[in-house]
Amino acid sequence: MLIDTHAHIFSDHFENDLDEVIARSKEAGIKKLFMPNIDSESVESMIALEERFPGYCYSMIGLHPCSVKGNHHDELKVVEKWLERRKFSAIGEMGTDLYWDKTYIKEQKNAFNYQVDLALEHDLPIVIHCRESIDLTIDLVKNKQNGSLSGIFHCFTGDIEQARKIIDLGFYLGIGGVLTFKNSGLDKVIKDIDLQYLVLETDSPYLAPTPKRGKRNEPSYLKFILRRLADLYEVSEDSVEKITGENALNLYRQ
Ligand SMILES: [Zn+2]
Repeated sequence: MLIDTHAHIFSDHFENDLDEVIARSKEAGIKKLFMPNIDSESVESMIALEERFPGYCYSMIGLHPCSVKGNHHDELKVVEKWLERRKFSAIGEMGTDLYWDKTYIKEQKNAFNYQVDLALEHDLPIVIHCRESIDLTIDLVKNKQNGSLSGIFHCFTGDIEQARKIIDLGFYLGIGGVLTFKNSGLDKVIKDIDLQYLVLETDSPYLAPTPKRGKRNEPSYLKFILRRLADLYEVSEDSVEKITGENALNLYRQ
């Protein structure tokens, strides 16, 4: 079971060739795609896409840290409304980001805690984005972990200690294109982590893996990440696919 646990295929980048993108994804062996929401402006196109590809594309609901601004209370109300209306696979993507803008860090933390509470209330996993803020985010999760919180640190690029802390918190590491980048150093960290703690993701349309680096990313490129992991662990692609796929389906309760 090859699963793309993180793909923004509802983005404008796919509006002209979405059918082909999904066809290539199926051809590459991907069985399901999970779509992380951004904010109130992306929800409807995401849900429309899910309805177009039922049983293949699954929606999450949440507020991305880069969309946490002065109006984040209104944005969080939108998340809450949607949760009352229908089922989602996870709360996401949510998190913290100090790379683009540090202005709203207090609001980002508030929005994080608020969304964790929603996840606990609705018994859903969380999908976490963090950039230049991994230690801070690990602490936020630690403060809230009561034994029933689960999720993914998406696009994990931290060091071995951070990886171990995340695993100890009962979370998965989301592994994407960065693993294939020359000199990322992520391969050396991941080599010491058991496959049972990993899930695969593309983060389409961003972070295309080598040899597509710099191009628009799409779910079918998950095969390059799969191949790199199989090489790294010196196991078959089938076994990487099986273990990481089971992890993903367990987490998203599919
Ligand atoms: Zn994302």
